Amino acid sequence: MEPLPPIHRIVMLGPPASGKGTQGIRLAAALAVPHLSAGQLLRRSVMDGDPHGLARSLSEGELVPDELMYALIVPALHDGFILDGFPRTATQARWLDEFLEPRGWQVQAAVEIAVDPGTLAARMVLRSTYQHRADDTPEVFLHRLQEYEREAPMLRAHYGRLLITVDGQDSEDEVFQRLRGAIRTRTPAPAGRSSARAGFDVESVAPST
Ligand code: AMP
Repeated sequence: MEPLPPIHRIVMLGPPASGKGTQGIRLAAALAVPHLSAGQLLRRSVMDGDPHGLARSLSEGELVPDELMYALIVPALHDGFILDGFPRTATQARWLDEFLEPRGWQVQAAVEIAVDPGTLAARMVLRSTYQHRADDTPEVFLHRLQEYEREAPMLRAHYGRLLITVDGQDSEDEVFQRLRGAIRTRTPAPAGRSSARAGFDVESVAPST
């Protein structure tokens, strides 16, 4: 298997049940950087006594306020991350940039896993049989999907040339191969050759988490 380029700051976008969590974990392992899931962070906070009163927002599929999400996720950020489910709004995307820029840690790619709504619904039903998430009901799922479709155009516009869209319809392995291929294709050619088609800047340094 051809190695991946040494990029190590990636945000994962995608509708609920698109597989962005699964693919994000695999990408994090392949790039040797931490995988940080916003949804998991929130669910853990609810399990730890729910100090921020998030249980209801989560079970109803409502986005938690930007300020709170930012305050929870930023302390967990180091140089090197696969961010799964953050940012989810244009405000979060802007704040993330403002946090990263002074540290020289700009996002290098935004990967969107694209899956059609029928497949998403089928995956959600399957997931609900083994994960028992409060938000994996048909009504809440639809609401989360609508939230995603409302916010996604602004996120796509925000990331512009950094955006890599990957067809997520197939098996986990097929999607991961496609994702790896897409990341490699968007990598600048080695020094001395034209890098005009590069979608993002790749640094030759190892992650320093
Ligand atoms: P996920 O595990 O990514 O499906 O997220 C589960 C739920 O957590 C979402 O439906 C939202 O209620 C909440 N959530 C996750 N990420 C964010 C975020 N970046 N901003 C606000 N709410 C979020």
